[in-house]
Amino acid sequence: MHLSLTVLQPDFSLIPAPFFYVAIGVIGAIIGSFLNVVIHRLPREESIVFPNSRCPSCGTAIAFYDNIPVFSYAVLGGRCRSCKTYISARYPAVELLTGLLWAALAMHDGMSWALPFDLIFVTAILVLIFIDAEHMILPNAITYPGIVFALVARITLPLLLRQPHFDDVAMLLDGPFEGWPMWAASLGGAVIGGLAGGGSLWLMGWLWEKLRGVEAMGLGDVKMMFMVGGYLGWRLTILNIFVAVLSGSVTGIVVMAAKGDRNMQMLLPFGIFLGIGAIAALLFGSHIVEWYAGQFR
Ligand SMILES: [Zn+2]
Repeated sequence: MHLSLTVLQPDFSLIPAPFFYVAIGVIGAIIGSFLNVVIHRLPREESIVFPNSRCPSCGTAIAFYDNIPVFSYAVLGGRCRSCKTYISARYPAVELLTGLLWAALAMHDGMSWALPFDLIFVTAILVLIFIDAEHMILPNAITYPGIVFALVARITLPLLLRQPHFDDVAMLLDGPFEGWPMWAASLGGAVIGGLAGGGSLWLMGWLWEKLRGVEAMGLGDVKMMFMVGGYLGWRLTILNIFVAVLSGSVTGIVVMAAKGDRNMQMLLPFGIFLGIGAIAALLFGSHIVEWYAGQFR
Protein backbone atom coordinates (compact mmCIF):
# COMPACT_ATOMS: atom_id res chain seq x y z
CA MET A 1 0.00 0.00 0.00
CA HIS A 2 1.22 3.41 -0.84
CA LEU A 3 0.63 6.09 1.72
CA SER A 4 0.87 9.62 0.46
CA LEU A 5 0.57 12.87 2.32
CA THR A 6 -1.73 15.31 0.58
CA VAL A 7 -1.61 18.90 1.67
CA LEU A 8 -4.24 21.43 0.70
CA GLN A 9 -2.57 24.15 -1.32
CA PRO A 10 -4.74 27.25 -1.22
CA ASP A 11 -5.10 28.81 -4.67
CA PHE A 12 -3.73 32.33 -4.52
CA SER A 13 -3.11 32.51 -8.25
CA LEU A 14 -5.90 35.05 -8.78
CA ILE A 15 -4.16 37.61 -6.56
CA PRO A 16 -1.80 39.86 -8.56
CA ALA A 17 1.80 39.49 -7.33
CA PRO A 18 2.50 43.20 -6.55
CA PHE A 19 -0.67 43.38 -4.45
CA PHE A 20 0.48 40.29 -2.56
CA TYR A 21 3.94 41.81 -1.83
CA VAL A 22 2.39 45.08 -0.63
CA ALA A 23 -0.17 43.25 1.53
CA ILE A 24 2.54 41.14 3.19
CA GLY A 25 4.65 44.31 3.66
CA VAL A 26 1.78 46.13 5.37
CA ILE A 27 1.12 43.17 7.68
CA GLY A 28 4.87 43.16 8.39
CA ALA A 29 4.79 46.84 9.44
CA ILE A 30 1.90 46.08 11.83
CA ILE A 31 3.87 43.14 13.25
CA GLY A 32 6.84 45.54 13.51
CA SER A 33 4.72 47.76 15.76
CA PHE A 34 4.21 44.76 18.06
CA LEU A 35 7.94 43.93 17.88
CA ASN A 36 8.67 47.35 19.38
CA VAL A 37 6.68 46.27 22.43
CA VAL A 38 8.59 42.95 22.57
CA ILE A 39 11.97 44.71 22.19
CA HIS A 40 11.09 47.14 24.99
CA ARG A 41 9.47 44.73 27.44
CA LEU A 42 11.06 41.31 27.00
CA PRO A 43 14.48 42.25 28.49
CA ARG A 44 12.65 43.98 31.36
CA GLU A 45 10.68 40.79 32.00
CA GLU A 46 7.36 42.58 31.53
CA SER A 47 4.29 41.02 29.94
CA ILE A 48 4.32 41.53 26.18
CA VAL A 49 0.51 41.28 25.99
CA PHE A 50 -0.74 43.54 28.83
CA PRO A 51 -1.10 46.44 29.17
CA ASN A 52 -1.55 48.05 25.73
CA SER A 53 1.20 50.19 24.21
CA ARG A 54 2.07 53.12 26.44
CA CYS A 55 4.28 56.16 26.11
CA PRO A 56 7.59 55.13 27.74
CA SER A 57 7.84 58.63 29.23
CA CYS A 58 4.42 59.60 30.66
CA GLY A 59 2.70 56.19 30.60
CA THR A 60 -0.36 57.40 28.68
CA ALA A 61 -1.99 54.57 26.75
CA ILE A 62 -1.53 55.05 23.01
CA ALA A 63 -4.81 55.24 21.07
CA PHE A 64 -5.18 52.95 18.06
CA TYR A 65 -5.19 55.93 15.66
CA ASP A 66 -1.80 57.01 17.05
CA ASN A 67 -0.43 53.50 16.63
CA ILE A 68 -0.49 53.23 12.83
CA PRO A 69 2.97 52.00 11.79
CA VAL A 70 5.37 54.72 10.53
CA PHE A 71 2.43 57.02 9.61
CA SER A 72 1.52 58.05 13.18
CA TYR A 73 5.13 58.80 14.04
CA ALA A 74 5.38 61.13 11.03
CA VAL A 75 2.03 62.85 11.76
CA LEU A 76 2.92 63.45 15.42
CA GLY A 77 6.39 64.72 14.50
CA GLY A 78 7.98 61.94 16.53
CA ARG A 79 6.45 63.12 19.83
CA CYS A 80 3.98 61.68 22.32
CA ARG A 81 0.54 63.28 21.81
CA SER A 82 0.00 64.01 25.51
CA CYS A 83 3.43 64.82 26.99
CA LYS A 84 5.24 65.91 23.77
CA THR A 85 8.35 63.92 24.71
CA TYR A 86 10.35 62.77 21.67
CA ILE A 87 9.83 59.09 20.90
CA SER A 88 12.86 57.06 19.83
CA ALA A 89 13.32 56.80 16.05
CA ARG A 90 13.75 53.07 16.70
CA TYR A 91 9.94 52.71 16.71
CA PRO A 92 9.25 53.76 13.08
CA ALA A 93 12.58 52.21 12.00
CA VAL A 94 11.58 48.75 13.29
CA GLU A 95 8.12 49.09 11.68
CA LEU A 96 9.55 50.15 8.32
CA LEU A 97 12.32 47.55 8.36
CA THR A 98 9.94 44.72 9.29
CA GLY A 99 7.53 45.79 6.53
CA LEU A 100 10.30 45.96 3.90
CA LEU A 101 11.80 42.61 4.92
CA TRP A 102 8.39 40.91 4.89
CA ALA A 103 7.76 42.28 1.37
CA ALA A 104 11.25 41.12 0.30
CA LEU A 105 10.54 37.62 1.65
CA ALA A 106 7.20 37.55 -0.18
CA MET A 107 9.11 38.25 -3.41
CA HIS A 108 11.81 35.71 -2.51
CA ASP A 109 9.46 32.82 -1.66
CA GLY A 110 6.32 33.69 -3.60
CA MET A 111 3.07 32.11 -2.41
CA SER A 112 4.71 29.05 -0.95
CA TRP A 113 4.74 27.15 2.34
CA ALA A 114 8.31 28.41 2.77
CA LEU A 115 7.04 31.97 3.27
CA PRO A 116 5.46 31.67 6.75
CA PHE A 117 8.56 29.83 8.03
CA ASP A 118 10.97 32.42 6.59
CA LEU A 119 8.80 35.24 8.00
CA ILE A 120 8.98 33.74 11.51
CA PHE A 121 12.75 33.18 11.21
CA VAL A 122 13.55 36.72 10.00
CA THR A 123 11.17 38.31 12.54
CA ALA A 124 12.91 36.47 15.41
CA ILE A 125 16.30 37.62 14.05
CA LEU A 126 15.06 41.24 13.93
CA VAL A 127 13.99 41.08 17.58
CA LEU A 128 17.41 39.66 18.53
CA ILE A 129 19.24 42.41 16.59
CA PHE A 130 17.34 45.24 18.28
CA ILE A 131 17.40 43.75 21.80
CA ASP A 132 21.16 43.15 21.48
CA ALA A 133 21.66 46.73 20.25
CA GLU A 134 19.78 48.18 23.22
CA HIS A 135 20.51 45.77 26.07
CA MET A 136 23.58 43.75 24.93
CA ILE A 137 21.76 40.47 25.52
CA LEU A 138 20.23 37.80 23.31
CA PRO A 139 17.37 36.44 25.46
CA ASN A 140 16.87 32.69 25.89
CA ALA A 141 13.15 33.43 25.48
CA ILE A 142 13.92 33.93 21.77
CA THR A 143 16.90 31.64 21.11
CA TYR A 144 15.60 28.43 22.78
CA PRO A 145 12.21 28.42 21.00
CA GLY A 146 14.18 29.49 17.91
CA ILE A 147 16.26 26.30 18.00
CA VAL A 148 13.09 24.18 18.35
CA PHE A 149 11.47 26.15 15.50
CA ALA A 150 14.48 25.50 13.23
CA LEU A 151 14.24 21.73 13.85
CA VAL A 152 10.46 21.69 13.27
CA ALA A 153 10.85 23.69 10.04
CA ARG A 154 13.60 21.33 8.86
CA ILE A 155 11.28 18.32 9.19
CA THR A 156 8.04 20.00 8.07
CA LEU A 157 9.05 22.03 5.01
CA PRO A 158 10.52 19.20 2.89
CA LEU A 159 7.34 17.18 3.62
CA LEU A 160 5.02 20.07 2.67
CA LEU A 161 6.96 21.15 -0.42
CA ARG A 162 8.13 17.65 -1.50
CA GLN A 163 11.48 19.11 -2.40
CA PRO A 164 14.70 19.62 -0.41
CA HIS A 165 14.11 23.39 -0.09
CA PHE A 166 16.95 24.08 2.38
CA ASP A 167 20.24 25.03 0.74
CA ASP A 168 22.26 22.05 1.99
CA VAL A 169 19.79 19.17 1.68
CA ALA A 170 20.24 18.19 -2.00
CA MET A 171 24.00 18.03 -1.46
CA LEU A 172 23.60 15.92 1.71
CA LEU A 173 21.28 13.48 -0.12
CA ASP A 174 23.98 13.05 -2.77
CA GLY A 175 26.64 12.47 -0.13
CA PRO A 176 26.60 11.40 3.53
CA PHE A 177 22.81 10.98 3.77
CA GLU A 178 22.33 9.03 0.55
CA GLY A 179 19.20 6.87 0.71
CA TRP A 180 17.73 8.72 3.69
CA PRO A 181 14.20 10.14 3.53
CA MET A 182 14.34 13.81 2.59
CA TRP A 183 13.04 15.05 5.94
CA ALA A 184 15.67 13.01 7.82
CA ALA A 185 18.51 14.34 5.67
CA SER A 186 17.08 17.82 6.27
CA LEU A 187 17.12 17.24 10.04
CA GLY A 188 20.68 15.88 9.81
CA GLY A 189 21.60 19.05 7.94
CA ALA A 190 20.10 21.10 10.79
CA VAL A 191 22.39 19.38 13.30
CA ILE A 192 25.45 19.94 11.07
CA GLY A 193 24.43 23.58 10.48
CA GLY A 194 23.80 24.15 14.19
CA LEU A 195 27.24 22.82 15.04
CA ALA A 196 28.81 24.89 12.24
CA GLY A 197 27.14 28.03 13.64
CA GLY A 198 26.96 27.59 17.42
CA GLY A 199 29.90 25.20 17.71
CA SER A 200 32.35 27.34 15.74
CA LEU A 201 31.37 30.45 17.69
CA TRP A 202 31.76 28.63 20.99
CA LEU A 203 35.21 27.41 19.88
CA MET A 204 36.30 30.91 18.81
CA GLY A 205 35.20 32.32 22.18
CA TRP A 206 36.97 29.53 24.06
CA LEU A 207 40.24 30.06 22.13
CA TRP A 208 40.06 33.84 22.62
CA GLU A 209 39.54 33.36 26.34
CA LYS A 210 42.56 31.01 26.55
CA LEU A 211 44.77 33.37 24.54
CA ARG A 212 43.71 36.72 25.94
CA GLY A 213 42.25 35.77 29.31
CA VAL A 214 39.06 37.75 28.69
CA GLU A 215 35.59 36.61 27.84
CA ALA A 216 34.98 37.45 24.18
CA MET A 217 31.68 35.91 23.29
CA GLY A 218 28.50 35.62 25.28
CA LEU A 219 26.67 32.30 25.25
CA GLY A 220 23.74 34.20 23.74
CA ASP A 221 25.64 34.46 20.45
CA VAL A 222 26.35 30.72 20.55
CA LYS A 223 22.67 29.84 21.13
CA MET A 224 21.59 32.29 18.43
CA MET A 225 23.90 30.60 15.93
CA PHE A 226 22.61 27.12 16.86
CA MET A 227 19.19 28.42 15.82
CA VAL A 228 20.44 30.17 12.68
CA GLY A 229 22.78 27.35 11.63
CA GLY A 230 20.04 24.78 12.12
CA TYR A 231 17.70 26.70 9.84
CA LEU A 232 20.14 27.87 7.15
CA GLY A 233 22.44 24.83 6.91
CA TRP A 234 26.24 24.81 7.03
CA ARG A 235 26.99 26.55 3.71
CA LEU A 236 24.85 29.63 4.37
CA THR A 237 26.02 29.64 8.01
CA ILE A 238 29.68 29.98 6.99
CA LEU A 239 28.64 32.86 4.70
CA ASN A 240 26.63 34.34 7.58
CA ILE A 241 29.61 34.31 9.97
CA PHE A 242 31.86 35.74 7.24
CA VAL A 243 29.44 38.64 6.64
CA ALA A 244 29.12 39.19 10.41
CA VAL A 245 32.88 39.29 11.06
CA LEU A 246 33.46 41.55 8.06
CA SER A 247 30.66 44.03 8.84
CA GLY A 248 31.46 43.91 12.58
CA SER A 249 35.16 44.64 11.98
CA VAL A 250 34.49 47.50 9.56
CA THR A 251 31.96 49.03 12.00
CA GLY A 252 34.41 48.57 14.89
CA ILE A 253 37.20 50.34 12.99
CA VAL A 254 34.89 53.20 11.97
CA VAL A 255 33.59 53.63 15.54
CA MET A 256 37.12 53.55 16.97
CA ALA A 257 38.34 56.09 14.40
CA ALA A 258 35.38 58.37 15.10
CA LYS A 259 35.97 58.23 18.86
CA GLY A 260 39.75 58.43 18.55
CA ASP A 261 39.75 55.42 20.81
CA ARG A 262 42.06 52.48 20.12
CA ASN A 263 40.71 50.29 22.87
CA MET A 264 40.21 46.86 21.31
CA GLN A 265 38.30 45.65 24.36
CA MET A 266 35.45 47.92 23.36
CA LEU A 267 32.34 45.81 23.18
CA LEU A 268 30.20 45.85 20.07
CA PRO A 269 27.09 43.69 20.33
CA PHE A 270 28.11 40.97 17.86
CA GLY A 271 24.51 39.66 17.70
CA ILE A 272 23.63 42.66 15.49
CA PHE A 273 26.15 41.61 12.86
CA LEU A 274 25.31 37.90 13.15
CA GLY A 275 21.68 38.88 12.57
CA ILE A 276 22.47 41.04 9.53
CA GLY A 277 24.54 38.16 8.15
CA ALA A 278 21.69 35.67 8.75
CA ILE A 279 19.13 37.78 6.87
CA ALA A 280 21.56 38.48 4.02
CA ALA A 281 22.43 34.77 3.78
CA LEU A 282 18.74 33.77 3.69
CA LEU A 283 17.85 36.29 0.96
CA PHE A 284 20.96 36.16 -1.25
CA GLY A 285 23.13 33.32 0.08
CA SER A 286 22.28 30.49 -2.30
CA HIS A 287 23.26 32.60 -5.33
CA ILE A 288 26.54 33.66 -3.69
CA VAL A 289 27.41 30.09 -2.61
CA GLU A 290 26.63 28.71 -6.09
CA TRP A 291 28.72 31.42 -7.74
CA TYR A 292 31.62 30.77 -5.35
CA ALA A 293 31.45 26.98 -5.82
CA GLY A 294 31.34 27.60 -9.62
CA GLN A 295 34.80 29.20 -9.46
CA PHE A 296 36.32 25.79 -8.66
CA ARG A 297 34.56 23.71 -11.30
ZN1 LIG B 1 4.00 60.70 26.79
